[in-house]
Amino acid sequence: MNRLSPEVIHSYAGQRRKMVEEQLTDRGIKDLHLLEVMSRVPRHLFTLDSFQHRSYGDTPLPIGENQTISQPYIVAAMTAALGLKGDERVLEIGTGSGYQTAVMAELSAQVFTIERINALSRKAQQILDGLDYANIVFKMFDGTYGWPDQAPFDAIMVTASAKEIPEALIKQLGEGGRLVAPAGDTDKQKLILLRKKGNQVSRQEICDCKFVPLIGKYGWPEE
Ligand code: SAM
Repeated sequence: MNRLSPEVIHSYAGQRRKMVEEQLTDRGIKDLHLLEVMSRVPRHLFTLDSFQHRSYGDTPLPIGENQTISQPYIVAAMTAALGLKGDERVLEIGTGSGYQTAVMAELSAQVFTIERINALSRKAQQILDGLDYANIVFKMFDGTYGWPDQAPFDAIMVTASAKEIPEALIKQLGEGGRLVAPAGDTDKQKLILLRKKGNQVSRQEICDCKFVPLIGKYGWPEE
């Protein structure tokens, strides 16, 4: 994608503000930096043209290849759970549209993001390059293996669901690291937050959720 014009980037400002107030602040998202970032990142650039007018609605939307961009509240809740302060190295499994990647790139030092569907990864890279993000590293692969060469990570986010969180990913968390991921059956999951301290990993359930399946060696088999 060529450089995007400021008009294109900044359009939908009113809808973005309303999304932040009604869907995030009013539902208890308190991290002011995260709220500021989500009032700025142009979500409408990450959705399909035919759904652009619904980009700031309270729902997930299709992004092609049978995949979805997550509902804004879920993006915010997952990001808030990681407690990013700005100096973290973050691993994301499931680049999808790249919207969540952009939000985390604003709040951390570097994001390593893996997507198994090449067309989605390429499109996300084009948009994020067009927005001048220079702290994102992309990989097209099965993310259930994680990214061992770049481990350990301060934070890991998994945006597709397996029955259980892959052990390979938990192993790649550094000391004090946080991992947020959905886990459960294909029709219904719990959003889980893991925290690593020494040899211990604590587990907390955040909320019910429904994600597309994590497909790969340590996830669901491809149909
Ligand atoms: N966070 C994304 C966004 O903002 O658009 C939404 C991600 S979507 C809910 C989940 C993504 O995970 C899909 O793009 C899917 O192809 C990807 N995925 C599923 N299994 C994967 C795997 N084993 N490795 C990498 N990506 C995977």
